[in-house]
Amino acid sequence: MTSHAEPRVTLPNIRFNRPAVEGPELDYIAESVRGGHLSASGPFTARAAALLRMESGAQEILLTTSCTAALELSAMLLDLRPGDTVVVPSFTFTSSGLAFAREGARILFCDIEPVTLGLDPEHLATLMDDTVRAVVPVHYAGVACDMDGVLAALADWPQVSLIEDNAHGLYGRWRDRPLGSLGRFSTLSFHETKNIVCGEGGALLVNDERDVDRARVLYDKGTNRQAFFLGQVDKYSWKDNGSSFGMSDILAAYLFAQLQRHTTIQSKRRAVWEHYERLLSPHAAEFGFRLPIVPAHVEQAYHMFYVLLPDNATRDAVLKGMGAQGVNPTFHYVPLHNSDGGRRFAARPTECPVTEDISSRLLRLPFYNSLTPTDCDRAVDAFLTALRTFT
Ligand SMILES: *Cc1c(COP(=O)(O)O)cnc(C)c1O
Repeated sequence: MTSHAEPRVTLPNIRFNRPAVEGPELDYIAESVRGGHLSASGPFTARAAALLRMESGAQEILLTTSCTAALELSAMLLDLRPGDTVVVPSFTFTSSGLAFAREGARILFCDIEPVTLGLDPEHLATLMDDTVRAVVPVHYAGVACDMDGVLAALADWPQVSLIEDNAHGLYGRWRDRPLGSLGRFSTLSFHETKNIVCGEGGALLVNDERDVDRARVLYDKGTNRQAFFLGQVDKYSWKDNGSSFGMSDILAAYLFAQLQRHTTIQSKRRAVWEHYERLLSPHAAEFGFRLPIVPAHVEQAYHMFYVLLPDNATRDAVLKGMGAQGVNPTFHYVPLHNSDGGRRFAARPTECPVTEDISSRLLRLPFYNSLTPTDCDRAVDAFLTALRTFT
């Protein structure tokens, strides 16, 4: 028996993220494999690092297995001692704090300010004391945090290192300076959820020339192997602390293809961001939600599109309501300061009420390079339908 019912057209789910091949990634991987240098510091590593150096102006770029590893390398370079503390926003990924905690630092969790969702300079100023060795700003969603405020809070503490966790901010700018060029060190992520990807990967950007030699040693299992290959010494040996941080050249091949296509990737992401903003901003006042704020002196990196709903109940209902319509938004960071790990590694308890509030109300819409205008329309429809049903 054949059914006479109309065939029901079900649209495929819109995923939250979908990494895409943008160009010659697979050809480059084949070239890397055929070339026979599969480990770190190979030909594609050099080509990818050269593109990143051009963009950032860094003194040295060390490609790592992840952003977490790059943060760990920066932590090792600080030579942390018992009693040292590092200031980290409570509203970030665990690695921003964990990398320093596992090198022996205690963490001072700082609240965020509600405009950029980055470090709150006023709270930061109250946390500063003689124990602080580093401050780790995150440019949330690829929008520079309040760097004027952060730099002012650090003005009386010249010995404190600024380490930018720039996992979201590659190609973003603050006052015409590239994000990632503002600190002594900065880190990047090429995890599949970021703008430029290679599966798992990252980079340490060394902005102070005086750190370069030692960073290379720690990067290469504590040896002066890099100096050996540069012909600066005639044999290499164990010199210092370190670990195996290097990204395989196979992944660097994938990464190089993505970096070559960065203008295309960024303009696709910009189109998605602007499409969402155009469709959603007319409804913000009616439903009491707010969209991302990009200050005038900031060029954002188009890493994500978030919406702040009026309260936690509405946010959770919209997450669920959109899911029922085949669209997958998601929440974001759960506050670190009152997490189990955060409490374990905190120097002392701190109050982060803005982090708690923002975390409870933030929703991220599906966001990736190949999201079409039709997908965006569907995501916004699902969002508004869920919101209308709830309110
Ligand atoms: C993704 C992310 C990380 C971790 O990146 P990995 O490459 O997965 O280690 C660290 N910090 C922030 C802010 C991130 O978004």
